[in-house]
Amino acid sequence: MSKLAQKVVLVTGGSRGIGAAITKRLAADGASVAFTYAKDASAASAVVKAIELNGGKAIAIQADATDVEAVEAAIEKTFATFGRLDVLVNNAGTAIPKPFEDTTLEEMDRVIDINIRGVFAATKAALKRLSDGGRIIMIGSAVGERAIAPGLVPYAATKAAVRMFTQALSRELGSRGITVNNVQPGPIDTDLNPASGDWAVPQKAATALGRYGRPEEIAAMVAFIASPEASYITGANLTVDGGMNA
Ligand code: NDP
Repeated sequence: MSKLAQKVVLVTGGSRGIGAAITKRLAADGASVAFTYAKDASAASAVVKAIELNGGKAIAIQADATDVEAVEAAIEKTFATFGRLDVLVNNAGTAIPKPFEDTTLEEMDRVIDINIRGVFAATKAALKRLSDGGRIIMIGSAVGERAIAPGLVPYAATKAAVRMFTQALSRELGSRGITVNNVQPGPIDTDLNPASGDWAVPQKAATALGRYGRPEEIAAMVAFIASPEASYITGANLTVDGGMNA
């Protein structure tokens, strides 16, 4: 029996990078998966096709994480399509790497809107539909715990907020058997943080394993947290960073 058979999952930002790997992995584990994306409809439909080819069920929904009504509608569409909601993965996020003194207020607002306001809004809307015994899984960041390089000040601050949001929310949802956890990736090779180029060199060097991670290595942790085996883990920050924060 598949670990997530009969379960329904919504992943925000599931068309590329870490979110796409999570979407594919949870579908492979037997869940019906809905995911949102902001702009790239062709990347989203490629993820749906890949899952369907593998015998899984998936739908893609255009919903910018900064648009609360669109996110609420995505949750309702997931519920209407699959009849329930068991797992929310708050993955959509962004960074605008540059020195803090050069960062504009508009750029800070953008990072805050997606990385923290969007996470609050999606979680609040999902809670109306989430089954008792469900899972809320954040994709925070290892830099939410330890600032390993300059250039990520607003980003690191939002990811630290995600960490404390996770811990505080776990205290409110335990009575429903809902667990709330935060997976904190280190450097993972995606469009947001490619493993090649100048910016990658210090990040790679900062890890104990001397390499970037793959999106599938984050999806593996998310799959475990989503599974019945992780039933006693809540309020936890689970760092998957090749030893960067060791
Ligand atoms: P990518 O930029 O590679 O992919 C982002 C995904 O999110 C895409 O599917 C994109 O869809 C979607 N997305 C972007 N903006 C929005 C938005 N406003 N609303 C809804 N969807 C959106 O990012 P990663 O896969 O690298 O990052 C995913 C998460 O992991 C983020 O929260 C990030 O902070 C975190 N993380 C990443 C690390 C890394 O090294 N890569 C390290 C630590 C944490 P579309 O193409 O349509 O815009």
